[in-house]
Amino acid sequence: MTLRPLARLACLLPLLGCARGSLRSTGEPSGETGAAPAPLPGHYVVVGGVVVGQGRADVEVSAGEVRALHAPGAADPALPVIDAAGRWIAPGIIDSHVHLAYLPEGEALAAGGVAGAVDLAAPVSAFDVAEPLLIARAGPMVTAVGGYPTRSWGAGGYGLEVRGAGEATAAVAALADQGAALIKVPLGSSPALTTAELDAVVAAAHARGLPVVAHALSEEAVRAAAAADVDLLAHTPTGSLSAEAARLWAGRGLISTLSAFGGGENLAALRAAGAEVLYGTDFGNTRARGVSAAELQALVDAGLDGAAILHAATAAPAARFGFTNLGAISPGARAHLLVLDADPLLDPLTLSRPVEVLRP
Ligand SMILES: [Zn+2]
Repeated sequence: MTLRPLARLACLLPLLGCARGSLRSTGEPSGETGAAPAPLPGHYVVVGGVVVGQGRADVEVSAGEVRALHAPGAADPALPVIDAAGRWIAPGIIDSHVHLAYLPEGEALAAGGVAGAVDLAAPVSAFDVAEPLLIARAGPMVTAVGGYPTRSWGAGGYGLEVRGAGEATAAVAALADQGAALIKVPLGSSPALTTAELDAVVAAAHARGLPVVAHALSEEAVRAAAAADVDLLAHTPTGSLSAEAARLWAGRGLISTLSAFGGGENLAALRAAGAEVLYGTDFGNTRARGVSAAELQALVDAGLDGAAILHAATAAPAARFGFTNLGAISPGARAHLLVLDADPLLDPLTLSRPVEVLRP
């Protein structure tokens, strides 16, 4: 199907197929790990919808980016349109905990509305894999010799073993040079990084401007992470957590992964203590191909409202991980957008069932 000026697309259900058929560039298969997505030459406007949190506006898209937000009806009438009357338009979601080397289904995530993801452990070879969504990559976890996860699920290169602070510093530098956008460390397992090694990892990462994410599920590990000035927890902790330990996370962040590991009470306690919650599913361990209804529901159950959940899945991770063109619908944003049949501020679960996903 070819877009023609003035042709109001008959985008009735099933809307997903309509959007893909009409708006994807021609002749370029979108393989799971194929070539990087080429910017669309397409220039169109999404009319009649409500931009979530901003009100009614028509969204003009060009070459894969949001070009402008117009007052309803004010866009160039010569542009092809997508009718979003009665719909809400939300920015693409960021999943802050995935493993695409373990479960290489980036295409399914992107098609489901995930515009960005944080890959929290993969072999170094994954740095070179193009994906149809934006990825901030940790590469392998920096770990002790024989440490987690090198003797279990991550035996195939998911850990980078170091001995001594010097090797720890060098490992961070090597990962950063290969494209790491963050560094991940496991805490609370044995054998573990020494305090000197952990301090060296954090210092080297912060010197490069990279956040450090810790796998830390217990009270002891959560305390050690805060003491080392780690920025984020890769999971909501699952062990019993004291109020004092929660307070150590004020101003830091945690990635939810409630549908994978549970921990809703701890998430609520950390949030109340001032930690910032980021939506993350541990995709690869979990398998919801798109935006996870189970994770959204768990966040609701932990006390987050629609605005908090949307923030946790868009603007918060965009700022934490440097996704400068994700997280909000504004000029210059990547045009990976969810068209929804309900307002996610009132019904956050609607994010898991977009009626249409527009993408570059
Ligand atoms: Zn994980």
